[in-house]
Amino acid sequence: RGSVHRICSGQVILDLGTAVKELVENSLDAGATNIEVRLKEYGSELIEVADNGCGIRPDNYQALTLKYHTSKLRCFTDLQELSTFGFRGEALSSLCALADVSVVTRTTDGAAGVRLTYDHAGKLMGTAATARAPGTTVAVRELFKHLPVRFKEFRRNVKREYAKLLAVLQAYALIATSVRIICTNHVGRAARTTVVSTQGSPTLRENIVTVFGSRVADGLEPLIVEGPSGATISGYVSKATAGSSKSAGDRLFFFLNGRPIDLPKGSRVVTDTYRSLSSAATAHCRPVAILDLQLPRHSYDINVTPDKRKTFLHHEDELLNALQKALQELWEPSRS
Ligand code: ADP
Ligand code: MG
Repeated sequence: RGSVHRICSGQVILDLGTAVKELVENSLDAGATNIEVRLKEYGSELIEVADNGCGIRPDNYQALTLKYHTSKLRCFTDLQELSTFGFRGEALSSLCALADVSVVTRTTDGAAGVRLTYDHAGKLMGTAATARAPGTTVAVRELFKHLPVRFKEFRRNVKREYAKLLAVLQAYALIATSVRIICTNHVGRAARTTVVSTQGSPTLRENIVTVFGSRVADGLEPLIVEGPSGATISGYVSKATAGSSKSAGDRLFFFLNGRPIDLPKGSRVVTDTYRSLSSAATAHCRPVAILDLQLPRHSYDINVTPDKRKTFLHHEDELLNALQKALQELWEPSRS
């Protein structure tokens, strides 16, 4: 395939959002059903992700922060057969280079927990026994502290980085059914606030309720679109008549076979179609769309960029035309 080398190069931790994304993906890969993201000062002081997944085995303590080390399947011939989010072994090594990283972990059959500390080269500096239920907690302190210029810029723009982090986390919270995801933020002396939460429910619809509230969820209706060559798009979009999202930021989420992706062209199709068909009453509203593209293997390439969010869809135009047609039917003024 020739792409293995390419996907192994490049920085995976670009900002606060990608840091949290990589940690949450590791928890999901570990089979966690409970994931807690604890932030301090919007994540600039501390990002801590705790899960109840499989834990880390002792023979993996030394290597897990080394570049290109992964315990996940490595000898794939086809990236699309990949069932885990991670496979390159770059996230923890990058985080060590950028911040102070410590890990507390216990395997299901482990007698006690272990605290592991790493230096900036990803070298294991110490281990100490500690109490912990099975699972793993990764703590990242002062992201970008080892890149002074980036650090300053990060601190200056922390609110904007935080907004992106929330969008990333919302995407995983929406699509990860049967996983409870909670994110809290602790600022100054104020009480810790919950900023994203799901209850581990088995349906996307219930995740939408817990992430965005029932008022938003009530303004949505299910959509299923048959696309070209076996592709389908399914999820929820705004009802024609519902002005559900007046001031909130964009709530346009795309997934590819359950993985969050960036699909700017898809977002444009949704917003343009909505705008062209909305009545005077909803003209100032932004549409909500939470759509999973179910595409057959070999009809897309993931991992075009290091953060794995850019994708190349072979039949993108046909697929988006089908989406546009379905949305037009749904939102046509005559229908309501
Ligand atoms: P990748 O996910 O591509 O394997 P990472 O750098 O993200 O690479 O993680 C390196 C390794 O650390 C993983 O392969 C896994 O063995 C271990 N690991 C990291 N986070 C967790 C976690 N939450 N639970 C269990 N193992 C983990
Ligand atoms: Mg990973």
